[in-house]
Amino acid sequence: MIEVRDLQVRYGERVVARVPELDVGEGECVAIVGESGSGKSTTLLSLVGLTEGADISGHIRVCGVDVLQASPRRLREIRGARVALVMQSPQAALSPTTRLGVLMRRVLKLHGVDGRNGGASRGGAARVMAEAVEAVMLDPAILRRYPHEISGGQAQRFAIALAIALGAEVILADEPTSALDVTVQAEVVGVLRELREERGLAMLLVSHDLALVSTIADRVLVMKDGEVVESGPAAEVLARPSHPYTRELLEALP
Ligand code: ADP
Ligand code: MG
Repeated sequence: MIEVRDLQVRYGERVVARVPELDVGEGECVAIVGESGSGKSTTLLSLVGLTEGADISGHIRVCGVDVLQASPRRLREIRGARVALVMQSPQAALSPTTRLGVLMRRVLKLHGVDGRNGGASRGGAARVMAEAVEAVMLDPAILRRYPHEISGGQAQRFAIALAIALGAEVILADEPTSALDVTVQAEVVGVLRELREERGLAMLLVSHDLALVSTIADRVLVMKDGEVVESGPAAEVLARPSHPYTRELLEALP
């Protein structure tokens, strides 16, 4: 679902991310970890053509689309519908005066999902919406609420439900739990894990939270100053880090 080779992202003269190889298959979760400014978000955003003003070289394929060659229109098509971006503060992206259900219906319409072509979803958009909300373990009554009436964890799960409703195959999550209370972080992680296992979504997770990463990722890339300093199976990297920087990150864990 994601295939990256020899990626290099520059802003002006400065190389901010260099990733020789990054693959995420169906049902897999790969995590990028590293301190702030190490190039994690830049790498993630480059996968959907959202690094404005950057010079990018290398190869990026996402859902079969050659991202660096694709037209802006083609990129817009895959963003949202096939590739969902889950960011740090979902509430900020929700319009405060629009009920969640109205918002979801609009997004579905915008992407041409009305539930009538889906076969399995004979009940139309309402059915698609209810299914998506249930998939993230939210009460469907939440669709009648306004964004300020829900918690951060619910907002994050709603953002993920939008992706499900649209039929996303890939989730790109950038620090999806770091703005949340510890108590609700687990809810979001649980939902992400289930989507991967039950729906076979491919997931790229950016996080500085190694505890989170250890519970969900199959493979890990460790970045520092724009370079991948270590990568491999999550269990191995976290149990026997070979790079001093990875050891430092692990030692910083509470
Ligand atoms: P991380 O997500 O690991 O914290 P980022 O990918 O956001 O790191 O940033 C990596 C580096 O790239 C930082 O030094 C940042 O200042 C720089 N950078 C990010 N976006 C831009 C931009 N639009 N223009 C110039 N520099 C940028
Ligand atoms: Mg970042």
